[in-house]
Amino acid sequence: MITINENFLKLQDSYLFVTIAEKVKEYQKKNPNKDIIKLGIGDITRPIPGKVAEAMKKAVDEMTNINTFRGYGPEVGYDFLKEKIIENDYKSKGINFENSEVFISDGIGTDIANIVDIFDVQNTVAITDPVYPAYLDTNVMSGRSANFENGKYRGVTYLEVNEENNFIPRIPKEQIDMIYLCFPNNPTGTVISKEELTKWVGYARKNNSIILYDAAYEAYIQDENIPHSIYEIEGAKEVAIEFKSYSKSAGFTGIRCGYTVVPKELKGYTKEGETISLNKLWNRRQSTKSNGVSYITQRGAEAVYTKEAQQQIKENIEYYMNNTKNIKEGLEKIGFKTFGGENAPYVWLKVPNNKNSWEFFDELLEHAGVVGTPGVGFGPSGEGYFRLTGFGTKENTERAVLRIQKYYKN
Ligand code: PLP
Repeated sequence: MITINENFLKLQDSYLFVTIAEKVKEYQKKNPNKDIIKLGIGDITRPIPGKVAEAMKKAVDEMTNINTFRGYGPEVGYDFLKEKIIENDYKSKGINFENSEVFISDGIGTDIANIVDIFDVQNTVAITDPVYPAYLDTNVMSGRSANFENGKYRGVTYLEVNEENNFIPRIPKEQIDMIYLCFPNNPTGTVISKEELTKWVGYARKNNSIILYDAAYEAYIQDENIPHSIYEIEGAKEVAIEFKSYSKSAGFTGIRCGYTVVPKELKGYTKEGETISLNKLWNRRQSTKSNGVSYITQRGAEAVYTKEAQQQIKENIEYYMNNTKNIKEGLEKIGFKTFGGENAPYVWLKVPNNKNSWEFFDELLEHAGVVGTPGVGFGPSGEGYFRLTGFGTKENTERAVLRIQKYYKN
């Protein structure tokens, strides 16, 4: 008899965006002539930089020539890309890495999901609440939680973030082994200061914990005092893994490429207390279980660092951040309370009139024809909040804001 991984049965059924898509489809069926503006899913809408496309086309041509053709590449990425990453994303901030500490992948969604492989199932886990769902689901699948009860998985520590704590998770009093932090944050669009992040690094060092630091939105930081990398904090190399993606910066959500940094200094422990290099474990895991990323894609990612591509990326980010500003200011004008949106493409708003997140979703769809994401879909502490993204077109964003203003201006 083939028995299954019963941890999958603990997972909550419907994925948030599937539910939203179903609701929108149903609404459209009933109202075929209504124009709907989607500011829900966090996918980019601007195309990739020309230099990236050029580099990819050149790489395709190389593949057609017997002298430049490439077969299987290194599972953990080509050195030409790792060198560009180290030079541009780290050395420029005074942080040094060797190529072997950088692991190229088909996007960090995959790495975030797979990183749990190298940690013991008995480890305790903390996530912020609300949270990007992948951290939680992948730990549930691998058995690091008990059943789902009253909106939470038992056995997982939920660190609530809300208006009262300024969306900065409390430092746990208890010992937690694996801590997921994401800044700039999805879904709340809020950021963490160097001071606050230093406290987390201190906690992890004291408790022999690991911080899994998701910096997917780092390119959106506008305030120069906000850290772009956890390694800007002294001592972080001994306690943190960092995930960075080209998805939201260079428009790679369709191409797929990102990277994970696992410093040599980073140690895990056997039950007997022997120290083990996590870099070695991750390298072993990736070399065995990953196919790596295509040569063509990696040449495209390399071109992200050209002057021309950087300029185009800067313009795209300005475009999305203008949308975000437009949403934030437009909603505040009619008395909505909003959070985030200054260093991230997400505006987190307090649902007005004491409605819950899904009631507001329905109301917004019905009366403004705008689709957003109910905060409660990101965790129980997201109840009463709602997420709108700056990833739409300028025109649609402006129209959406006007429609919301029209309906809610009492
Ligand atoms: N982490 C966060 C917080 C995200 O919002 C996303 C995508 O939306 C990802 C990771 C996944 O990134 P990638 O496209 O590189 O897989």
